[in-house]
Amino acid sequence: MKQKNLLYTGKAKSVYRTDVAGQFIVEFRDDITAFDGGKKDVLKNKGSYNAEVSAFIFEYLEKHGVKTHFVEMLDSRRMVVRELLMIPLEVIVRNVAAGSIVRNYPFKEGTTLDPPVIVIDYKDDSRHDPMLNDDLIVALKLATAQELAEIKKIALTVNTLLVKLMASQGITLVDFKMEFGRSKKTILLGDEISMDSMRLWDKKTGESLDKDVYRFEKGDVMATYNSVTARITKKESAKTSAKPKAKASVKKTTKTPAQKPVKAVPAKMTVKATAKPVKVTASKAGKPGKKVPVKKPAPKTARKR
Ligand code: C5P
Repeated sequence: MKQKNLLYTGKAKSVYRTDVAGQFIVEFRDDITAFDGGKKDVLKNKGSYNAEVSAFIFEYLEKHGVKTHFVEMLDSRRMVVRELLMIPLEVIVRNVAAGSIVRNYPFKEGTTLDPPVIVIDYKDDSRHDPMLNDDLIVALKLATAQELAEIKKIALTVNTLLVKLMASQGITLVDFKMEFGRSKKTILLGDEISMDSMRLWDKKTGESLDKDVYRFEKGDVMATYNSVTARITKKESAKTSAKPKAKASVKKTTKTPAQKPVKAVPAKMTVKATAKPVKVTASKAGKPGKKVPVKKPAPKTARKR
């Protein structure tokens, strides 16, 4: 495969055309940003860690019947993906109250959200990604009601699978963000699922294992990305079935270097409709709510991340 012209540059990834019809290359760069780009840095190898975790997660999801854009890794930071028409929604699933919903609503940080809460934001930096509801999504023609139902169903399936995967490594999946796109009429999971887009807490110590370490200067970002990559991509996790043992073993954080990226074999593209019907959706509140006191430092602007 030959990489051709640059199509799109995001805050941390670049997308290139290729000589293969219907396939693009996503390059995971070492840029890291937070608070709508208000804080930014370049951290050596950060792109490779995120690419490795994303590839591992996409393969794991494909094995469990979730359709994604992932095809294979070309090298440690370049991922071959299927061409998608991206839907400008940030679909966030929350299992534990943290981050913006603690700042904007009267949730106590650390409260379990059962059933998980789906929050959908409009992906638009100039508007600071405002929260949407179902009616707004349909009225703005971002997705049809049917597509939205499909997106939520996939989001809950992915959540169930990732909660189990992370639990097998002693990690709580607090929340995470997904983006979806259309491939003809099929909705596929796109973008990335990495330490930049998940909030992960160590089950034993409660420490952050994700971009919050960078956002709130909680420690050595690259040491965290390195060790959490090694934890998530442990081979036994890749083989974890959708039904892991009741008592998942808790592994200690290791300082081993991240493993080499996995050369992926595209999995069969079938979706198992295993998700429960969605009970909770984006709140009617379109505006950020009142600020509530929280223990951890919050960014200055409620919607900024
Ligand atoms: O900031 P907030 O609490 O709303 O973020 C929820 C989750 O979505 C976090 O895991 C965060 O990393 C992710 N997120 C993201 N990209 C955004 C907004 C949120 O990956 N633009």
